Amino acid sequence: MNNFPRIALLSFHTSPLATLGGSVSGGMNVYIREISKRLVEKGFQVDIFTRREEQELPSIMDLGDGLRLFNIDAGPTTTVNKNDLSLWISNFTVNVKKAIENFDYDYELIFSHYWLSMLAGETLAHDWNVPHIGMFHTLAEVKIEALASENETQERLEAERRLIGKLDGIIAATSDEKEIMKIIYGVPANNINVVPLGVGPDFFEERSQKQAREKLNFFDEDRIVLAVGRVEPLKGLDVLIRAIQHIDEEMSCQLVIIGGDKAASTEIIRLKDIAKRVGIAHKVKFIGSVDHSKLPIYYRAADVVAIPSFSESFGLVAVEAMASGVPVVASNVGGLALTVEHGRAGFLIPPGCSDQFGEKINLLLRDPMLRNEFGRVGVENMKSYSWDAVALQLCNIFQSLLEESSKISITSEVAGA
Ligand code: UDP
Repeated sequence: MNNFPRIALLSFHTSPLATLGGSVSGGMNVYIREISKRLVEKGFQVDIFTRREEQELPSIMDLGDGLRLFNIDAGPTTTVNKNDLSLWISNFTVNVKKAIENFDYDYELIFSHYWLSMLAGETLAHDWNVPHIGMFHTLAEVKIEALASENETQERLEAERRLIGKLDGIIAATSDEKEIMKIIYGVPANNINVVPLGVGPDFFEERSQKQAREKLNFFDEDRIVLAVGRVEPLKGLDVLIRAIQHIDEEMSCQLVIIGGDKAASTEIIRLKDIAKRVGIAHKVKFIGSVDHSKLPIYYRAADVVAIPSFSESFGLVAVEAMASGVPVVASNVGGLALTVEHGRAGFLIPPGCSDQFGEKINLLLRDPMLRNEFGRVGVENMKSYSWDAVALQLCNIFQSLLEESSKISITSEVAGA
């Protein structure tokens, strides 16, 4: 084993290159892009494997510095509903093996993202005899508990329960997630490593709100509440739209919603309808997905970032907003409850409580000094959340897992001799 093992990173259901803010592309895609790039910078060799969604894509793409993305044939070369994708896992697994059969190297570790990738990773880890480490990003059981209407399949529930006990290592984004895994799923604590997510240096760059607004053609006199992310019921945007009713009438307030693709159109129609019914349609602007590299300027232009989610395993948007110096009003759930310092960098509200969301957003919109102070604390608090630090922690976890597994295989060879 050399010092920098070759890693097969599985991202079956969504490509790290996917447009963000769609119904299945958000924090996980950002995570994979950011950490794979940095693992390569640290000397690891990383190949990412994803399901091919477009016929025209090359089978292997060079993402720079030796980082490669393999587009693997598995099922229709188009977007397929996540709930139907497990049908194509065995196809994917076979084709991953085919894709690398002419290369003269082996992978030493598999890093799977989301339960679907783990199904493929389970077989590959067995066949290649290498450790399998996984990150769930979300768990069906937790989503259902947060919002009873979540449509999660029995198949996912059962697979997660089984997989969670079979992985050689688990990455959890927060200590809360670790507790859930211990309590609900009975995973031994030493199998779970807590590594938070990060934020890139571009979000910390000092820029004026006035300049940002000029660039975006936003009115200087408007008070802007920004929401960023996938557009789906779990994100609670209906709660936020209702909250905007509670903003002082004399304040010219705009709710700018970033995110949402074709697959989110039903939810967008529902949200527009709610906005119309509560009489604030003229204050809500849906601007669709925005490339991640262009987001810092939107955060900078905002007065408040609102995150009304019913569940959020980590909540990258909160970290990005605070790094950009913007106060956050967020649901008191998951990672948000850990990253948002209540009363100093933002406010935490019980999920679903429109009136309380409205009250705190209003408080911040009325008071520029409070916004500045919260923004300052937010930037300070976010300084420890860097992708470099995340990649470094992952390196250490991978190394010790590989050392452990080589000891086990030596011991079993000796025992077998
Ligand atoms: N995002 C983006 N463009 C969009 C919508 C979202 O770049 O149009 C990014 C956002 O900046 C964040 C991620 O998608 O980095 C969403 O992550 P979060 O953890 O907040 O939510 P998740 O998608 O994991 O539920």
